Parts: sequence; C-alpha cells; structure tokens
Amino acid sequence: MTGRVALLGKPLKRRHSQVMHDAAFDAAGIDARYVLAEIEPDAVEDAVREARGEGWLGLGVTAPYKQVVASLVDEVESDAATIGAVNNVVRTADGRLIGFNTDAPGFRAGVELAMGRSLQGADVVVMGAGGAAHAVVYACLDAGARSVVVANRTVDRATALVARFAGMGEGSLTALAAADPSLAGAFAAADVAVNATTVGMIDPGATIPIELLRSEATVFDLVYVPAETPLIAAARARGMRAANGSEMLIAQAAIAFERWTGVGGMAGVMRAAVAPLLADPSVRA
Ligand code: NAP
Repeated sequence: MTGRVALLGKPLKRRHSQVMHDAAFDAAGIDARYVLAEIEPDAVEDAVREARGEGWLGLGVTAPYKQVVASLVDEVESDAATIGAVNNVVRTADGRLIGFNTDAPGFRAGVELAMGRSLQGADVVVMGAGGAAHAVVYACLDAGARSVVVANRTVDRATALVARFAGMGEGSLTALAAADPSLAGAFAAADVAVNATTVGMIDPGATIPIELLRSEATVFDLVYVPAETPLIAAARARGMRAANGSEMLIAQAAIAFERWTGVGGMAGVMRAAVAPLLADPSVRA
C-alpha cells in the first residue's frame, strides 16, 4: 500500500511542501505520497480520524486548522502545546496521532545559519504576534536568547503572546506596539531583527527600519514568496547579513519527514527539489 501524508488547510495555494516531501520519499526509496487536502472546517474531524488508519504516516497542518487539529489528536507534544499550534502530526505504529510543531526548530535552524552563530545570548526583535511569531519567540527563549522584544501593529496580540511565554527561559521578554518610539532602542541593540508578519508577502513595504540596526546585525524575514522582499533587498543593499524564510521552510520539512519515516538528512534533497519553485517569480503568495 502506498503510504500517505495529507496537508490539511484552506486555501492551499502553494505546492512547496508537496514538492519537498515527494522528492524526499523518492530519494529515500519510500513508497509514499504527500497529498494536498483543501477541506472545509466541518471535514477536519473526519480527516484526522481517517489518518489513524493503515497506510498513513501522518498529517501536515496549515491555516486555519493548526489549533483545531491540536484538539483532535491523541497527544500534543509540550512545545507545540506551549506555542499553541500543531503544524504536523505523526501516526504511531498502533494508530495513535501525536501533534508536534516544526516551525520553532525550523526557525532556529534558519536564523542561526543566517546569523552565523547561536541564538544563545542574543538580543532579538520580533515583528508580529501571529502563529509564526509564537513559534519564533518560543525558539528564541528555548535557545537562551538574552532579550526578546515582540512588536505588533495590534499591541494587544503582542501583550497576549508575552503573557503566554512569561517565565520561560532566562531572557527578558517585552511587548510593544509597532508604533512605539521605544522600539528604536531595541532595534539599535538587536543582534537579529525578525519579520514574522505577512508584510512583504501580502501587504507591501517592510516592518523593520534597516537604518536603525547595527551594520553587524542580521535581518531574517519569514516570508519566502517573493524570494526577495523589500526588507531583504534593503538589508542586502546595506551589506548586512539577511535571509528569507526558505531555509526555515526546508529545515522544518526535513524535521517532519524524519518523524514520519525515521529517515533524516533530507534537507539537501528538499532544497534542490524546491529551488525552482522558490526562484519562480510567477509563484504568488
Ligand atoms: P498570522 O497568524 O495571520 O499573523 C499575521 C501577522 O502579520 C500579525 O502579527 C499581523 O498583525 C501582521 N500584519 C499583517 N498585515 C500587517 C500590516 N499591514 N502591517 C503590520 N503588520 C501586519 O500569520 P502567520 O501564520 O504568523 O505568518 C506570518 C508570516 O510568516 C507569513 O508570511 C508566513 O508565510 C510566514 N511563515 C513562514 C514560515 C517558513 O517556514 N518560512 C513558516 C510559518 C510562517 P495584527 O495582529 O496587527 O493583525
């Protein structure tokens, strides 16, 4: 029987995950496929139940189902519970479903590659307070960042995020409105500034004023469509370390693949498979 992983979400506009996982199944000699399941909210419960059956390796989960799937699986790993989102599910040999989160370790791998150092002891500014920002802040605190400032257009969401992670890690954690003048000081002190909003992908512009950062700082944009956002272009024009979200995307996929199959080391295969899609200017968000 051909094995299966289904990505649950709506809408499903991108094929990046499918391309990476199918290439990795082929390279590993595993008879399995990653299928896109764009389903309505009232079909999610049945889709999760079906994944307990023979032949299923697990599920991928994307918006808007990352919270509801957490409530339907048999177990949610503690980091995914703390972050508040399950973006992958693995089926055990006895048909139990375990929800986990790969955005946090994927972010850590991507940002540390971009920085050329560990997040440990780093001063971080994170723009955004949505689902991705939760994983980013978790990863920073878990890695031992010295300070994390979370700034968001809607300050209440930043405040709620900070309250969720209060007491985690050794570093300080502060919420600000994106328009707060004191954010300038945080940018000036930052080792890395992270865009975890949809700005640059959906709305035009950039959330981080490059000129406020130290020239040695790193700019990390979670957006990977388009490949070069205005933020990344501005950072590169100033000669700074800068990376988009593609390495995070690849790293989190490789982590999920290893959980489903036991086969590690697939990041290179995935990177090569997804490169044409990442470079294709006709692929839109
Ligand atoms: P989300 O939950 O919908 O959150 C969106 C965030 O963007 C919120 O903080 C929102 O602020 C902010 N925002 C939206 N429009 C804005 C604007 N015009 N000005 C300022 N802030 C604005 O989205 P998400 O799931 O966290 O995803 C965020 C980004 O990360 C997306 O681009 C996604 O593709 C990317 N991502 C990448 C990876 C990867 O592997 N590279 C993984 C996950 C996500 P308000 O609260 O004020 O609305």
